[in-house]
Order: sequence, then structure tokens, then C-alpha cells
Amino acid sequence: MRTVTLADGTAVPVLGQGTWQMGRRRFRRRREIAALRLGIDLGMTCIDTAEMYADGGAEEVVSAAIAGQRDRVFVVTKVSAPNASLRQMPAACAASLRRLRTDVIDLYLVHWRGDVPLDETVEALEKLRAEGKIRRWGTSNFDVSDLQELGPGACAANQVLYHPEARGIEYDLLPWCRERGLPVMAYSPLGQAGILLQHGTLAAVAQEYGATPAQVVLAWGLRQPGLISIPKAAHPRHVRANAAALELKLSDDDLRLIDVVLPPPVRKLPLAAL
Ligand code: NAP
Repeated sequence: MRTVTLADGTAVPVLGQGTWQMGRRRFRRRREIAALRLGIDLGMTCIDTAEMYADGGAEEVVSAAIAGQRDRVFVVTKVSAPNASLRQMPAACAASLRRLRTDVIDLYLVHWRGDVPLDETVEALEKLRAEGKIRRWGTSNFDVSDLQELGPGACAANQVLYHPEARGIEYDLLPWCRERGLPVMAYSPLGQAGILLQHGTLAAVAQEYGATPAQVVLAWGLRQPGLISIPKAAHPRHVRANAAALELKLSDDDLRLIDVVLPPPVRKLPLAAL
């Protein structure tokens, strides 16, 4: 699979798997674990979760999915903003490690910017890194101004909302990150399978390629260099379709057609987030 190379040389597959909404219901657990395992087998070995998802339940689903194959998987989890302090972060990270049943988190993201001063958050993250509990850290829902305040260097990736109906980052954040070699992780890349997937133009484009609108939307996001997309799929049919979307290369004409109906930004927009 095509990869994005992090600053430390680690290659991460451009297509990963999300886990929001997983771990909420016991009766769905086996299906969710099976979906993630199928995705890993298909090369989608970057798995994104968070301490907040299902109050840790999603991390537990991930732990079951990666059992026996931890070394194949790039585990991303997130610390919630109120826990991003020197006092709270060690316990939050320890709890994530316990739920994930692993010794080390590959990428630990600050889920969103809260009230804790950034300097303090960075100090707490660097401490965890020095202790070997996380391999690297990054941010989520950080706009250009937040990243500028963070300064150059240690942030390994920034995870933000990105899909054809939420293109604001194309105006400034995406180019800014690209110039600095900072990978961007696109969350909700399918627009949470809402009305976006009913869009007539996307359906028409999909038909041309014998694909589905979801596959077109994923291929559309993955046209951006330096971008990692993390769709969530609990249905095996969706998992397979997402993996197959990697083969899809949209023509310039089709990209222009999408620009007409779902236009790129022409000015700075506030960073969209869920
Ligand atoms: P998403 O990936 O855009 O959409 C998920 C929905 O799409 C699910 O209902 C899924 O159904 C459906 N789906 C998946 N593949 C499909 C396909 N090929 N065809 C049709 N439908 C398909 O939304 P998301 O879960 O919000 O975002 C992805 C991940 O990003 C999250 O799971 C989470 O890990 C991360 N995230 C991060 C933040 C943040 O603040 N950092 C915020 C939101 C999300 P099934 O599950 O039934 O297969």
C-alpha cells in the first residue's frame, strides 16, 4: 500500500481505520473486532482510536483486534483536552495503554485544544515519549495558528476533518503542513456516510469507474500527497470496498466536475470539526 513517511522515517499506510462508535454495544463487539482484523489483513494497519470513544470501549475493541499482531499495526489514540496536562496525562496514557493491552502507543494525539497551556501539554507529551510510553505525538483539530504556536519540530501529524463537503483546510492548513512535511490525517473522510454519499455527481462519477460513491470520496481525499485517511467501517463489505478504493484514480476531468458542485474554499474558513 502507498505510505506516508513520518519525520522519523516511519512509513504509515495512507489508508487506515477509524473506530468512533465502536465499543459502545456488547452485541456488536465481535463484528467490530472482525472488521478491524479484516482491514489489517487488507493492509489498513493504521488504527485510530481515542480514550473518549465509548469511554475507552473503542480502545478495548482495538486491543482485541490487534492481539497477536501488535507489531503489524500502527496504533493511534488520543488524550482528551482536559487530560492534556502534566498532572492528568500520565494517568490518561496509562489507562489507554492498559485498555489497548500494549506497552507503547505509536502516535498519541491531543484530541483538541483546550484550556491547558500548550507548553505544559508538550512537556507532558515529551515526558511520556522519554519514558517510552508513546513513540511520537501529534495534534488533532489544530488550525495553522495553533500549529504555529506549537513551533517547529516534534509534532508528528495533525488530524482534522476533511471530505468533499468540508474542504476548508485546502485553503491554508493543507499547504502549510505539506510545505513542512507534516502529515495530515483526514477524519470522517466519508462525511460519516451522510447525504454526501447520496450526491448525484459523485454517484455519476462512481458509475463511470464501476465504483461506489464512498470509494470515489475516499479516492478524492487520497489524491492529496502526505494525507492519511481513516474511514471507519464495521461492515465487512465496507472494509473491502474501502481497501479497494486505493486502486481508484480519479481523472482530472472528474476532479474538476467535483470542484464545480462541491467547490474548494476561496478564503480562510474557521477550522471545521465534529
Ligand atoms: P466516516 O469514516 O466518514 O464514516 C463512517 C460511516 O461510513 C459508518 O457509518 C460506516 O458504516 C460507513 N461506511 C464505511 N465505509 C463505507 C463504504 N465503503 N460505503 C458506505 N458506507 C461506508 O466517519 P467517522 O467515523 O466520523 O470518521 C472516521 C474516523 O475518524 C473515526 O472513526 C475516528 O477514528 C476519527 N475521528 C476523529 C475525530 C477527531 O476529532 N480527531 C472526529 C471524528 C472522527 P459501517 O460502520 O456500518 O461499516
